[in-house]
Amino acid sequence: MNFEIISIGTELLLGQIVNTNARDISQLLSELGMNVYYTTVVGDNPERLSEALEIAAGRADGIITTGGLGPTKDDLSKETIARFCGLKCVTHEESKRKLIEIFEKQGRYMPKNNLKQADMPEGCIVLKNEFRTAPGAIIESDKATIIMLPGPPSEMKPMLLNEVRPYLEKLADSVIRSKVLRVFGVGESAAEEKVNSLIENQTNPTIAPYAKTGEMEFRLTAKAETESEADRLLKPLEEKVREILGDCVYAEGEDASMQETVVKLLREQGKTVTFAESCTGGLLAKKITEIPGSSECFNCSYVTYSNEQKEKILGVSHETLESYGAVSSQTALEMCRGAREAADADIAVSVTGIAGPGGGTPEKPVGLVYIGICADGLWESKKLLLNGSRDAIRERTSLYALDAVRRELIKNNSK
Ligand code: ATP
Ligand code: MG
Repeated sequence: MNFEIISIGTELLLGQIVNTNARDISQLLSELGMNVYYTTVVGDNPERLSEALEIAAGRADGIITTGGLGPTKDDLSKETIARFCGLKCVTHEESKRKLIEIFEKQGRYMPKNNLKQADMPEGCIVLKNEFRTAPGAIIESDKATIIMLPGPPSEMKPMLLNEVRPYLEKLADSVIRSKVLRVFGVGESAAEEKVNSLIENQTNPTIAPYAKTGEMEFRLTAKAETESEADRLLKPLEEKVREILGDCVYAEGEDASMQETVVKLLREQGKTVTFAESCTGGLLAKKITEIPGSSECFNCSYVTYSNEQKEKILGVSHETLESYGAVSSQTALEMCRGAREAADADIAVSVTGIAGPGGGTPEKPVGLVYIGICADGLWESKKLLLNGSRDAIRERTSLYALDAVRRELIKNNSK
């Protein structure tokens, strides 16, 4: 099947926002084996949208639109698309009830124009909007199948995955199964090359690498007539990739995160962790507490930005700071030892580095980071030289630090 995407919104044309919706939809369509030959961006203008629909319907079997489903005057997508298909908009009672309920729950007055969101093209399939008020819709018209989604990515994405994906899977003449392996530390190793050789020879199943800040994701996808046949195709490829990447694979699944893996391992082993952070300024504590249940394995953490506090709270010696500086292996080691003692934790990780953009010297450039780890029978530090913006350096540093905890914990698993 051929699909086209029409992104609706004047902000997109003015360059005020990035068209991430088109990217996410394109990714899904390609994963489902649907062809996408054109995507269009059009402003909030009914005439030009009608024109774009006419052209797209002439070329494709299906059209996915985003944007313009809200209650305001410039939100005209639904009316325009309904008119294009020769349909009237009628009140969808369930959506109307939900809309009123949302406003009542929040104790807010509902302006009348909000009810417009519950008017849906006659006979369409209504797509629930779990997070907000504007539902989406699928119209199976003679001209094309048109799928309308809201503009805000936080509403569009769940609708795409939970409602549109299953619908499209049924349209596809084959079943697609995919598995995501999340990988950290592979950039440093020769493993990447080996996986690349697998990628070059792929047909079905396929491997697609995605680079994220500091980490990688490999999506393995197989196409077959049945689910079990697709799974059968995936299995040997997954085994091969896991064999190459070894313990760089830290989790499975789209939404998995390093902190989730770390919390899971800590809880399984009944251990606690603490952090002594300088350049990450609390990012590690933030990440670990994002995970429900982290209170079982995390009691407290230290953000010691100044030298004085490194001495006072973590017991880093004045001489160490004087002779080696705050960004040094020695300081990192003393920071994690001090934090482990102060928090009475099983594992302590420290970070100290230069996140930039200023503050670098030839001896200690921006991106120089030391990570210390202290646990039973382990007290060591690692030097990193990272690239990128301040944010990217801080993000990567936090991943390295969490990965150090993970690696210490999986040692116990293999014992
Ligand atoms: P709302 O109910 O919020 O008005 P809507 O479905 O009417 O939702 P729009 O008004 O078109 O959507 O867009 C709302 C916001 O969603 C935009 O300001 C922008 O932040 C985001 N957005 C819209 N289209 C896209 C897109 N293609 N990619 C990324 N973000 C988008
Ligand atoms: Mg809007």
